[in-house]
Amino acid sequence: MLVCTGFAAPDAKSPLAPWSFTRRDVGAFDVEIDILFCGVCHSDLHYARNEWQFTVYPAVPGHEIVGRVRSVGKDVTKYKTGDLVGVGCLVDSCRTCPSCREGLEQYCDAGMQGGTYGGTDKVTGEPTRGGYADKIVVDENYVLRIPENLDPAAAAPLLCAGITLYSPLRHWGAGPSKKVGIIGLGGLGHMGVKLAHAMGAETVLFTTSPSKVADGKKLGAHDVVISKHPEEMARHTNSFDLIIDTVSATHDLSPYFALLKRDATMVQVGAPEKPLPIAVFPLLLKRASFAGSAIGGIAETQEMLDFCDAHGITADIEMIPIQKINEAYERMLKSDVKYRFCIDMASLKG
Ligand code: NAP
Ligand code: ZN
Ligand code: ZN
Repeated sequence: MLVCTGFAAPDAKSPLAPWSFTRRDVGAFDVEIDILFCGVCHSDLHYARNEWQFTVYPAVPGHEIVGRVRSVGKDVTKYKTGDLVGVGCLVDSCRTCPSCREGLEQYCDAGMQGGTYGGTDKVTGEPTRGGYADKIVVDENYVLRIPENLDPAAAAPLLCAGITLYSPLRHWGAGPSKKVGIIGLGGLGHMGVKLAHAMGAETVLFTTSPSKVADGKKLGAHDVVISKHPEEMARHTNSFDLIIDTVSATHDLSPYFALLKRDATMVQVGAPEKPLPIAVFPLLLKRASFAGSAIGGIAETQEMLDFCDAHGITADIEMIPIQKINEAYERMLKSDVKYRFCIDMASLKG
């Protein structure tokens, strides 16, 4: 077994603390990666605190991983020692169900068994453990190539925040002549604004934070609406083709349904702990769709990374040493992050 060091939540109530654990040895098709950076997703916090009710403790979060290949198994063909690589939310899947065969591993019929954390390692049967650690071992088919032109720390959040917005924007046809709304300017939302703008859509940001209006415009929004102000919301009645909700807490969706065009779609990517109340009439009266979307498949994640390379897109990050992770979680809960914390894994040795 490979001995790793990292940070783990010992239970739902305690802060994350240093922890030593093992991963499987490097198998024939595995890539061993020295982790350089790991983005901090709100899902990490939901998971560490068992808000989704499936956490196995001690829990090592982290699924926005960038690092360099340290070694490869004897049958690996895609990567070699020294390559700059990434790992997102998936380290495996069943590989045989219709979704896996179509490259939509995130919708695997077997569920999220292959989650980077919260899943089960197929070889050892142990819970999978994420990227708040010095190294990770991943099957080469679930490893991404990070374009060398991108700043590796700022590229890390693309592996979850980036793909989680890229996938629904592509699926629902964001582009020129389409009007797209993004709700919430956090890690996911700021990637949504950048990506929708780069795809050529008219992009509008909805925020609860007046202090983020100027940033929203700088990131590429054509308009920024303070969602608590009904008169600002009314400016956009019946006008959106697509709205993507990235909010991490329960909130009222009805005001947004009023902003959709007939036959338009509202997509939920935020995953709050508690169910969302839905008023159905605004949907009925527009033949509107309310949909969900989860991250993206491996091939689409690589496509997104290459799109970001072509458009010079990365996340806006605030770098932290891993010892500040608990403070970062508290700030994330206050919507006080511009716009993604990223852990410098060199701090593990400090
Ligand atoms: P984040 O950085 O904390 O951003 C969330 C943003 O939502 C905040 O910055 C804030 O933006 C807004 N917000 C927070 N509380 C709110 C409230 N009570 N009412 C209205 N707005 C509120 O979180 P994130 O990392 O982007 O993740 C967002 C959510 O997506 C989480 O639930 C996460 O688990 C989920 N997620 C889902 C997927 C998927 O595959 N579907 C993937 C990754 C993450 P403003 O200050 O602009 O209002
Ligand atoms: Zn995530
Ligand atoms: Zn499958």
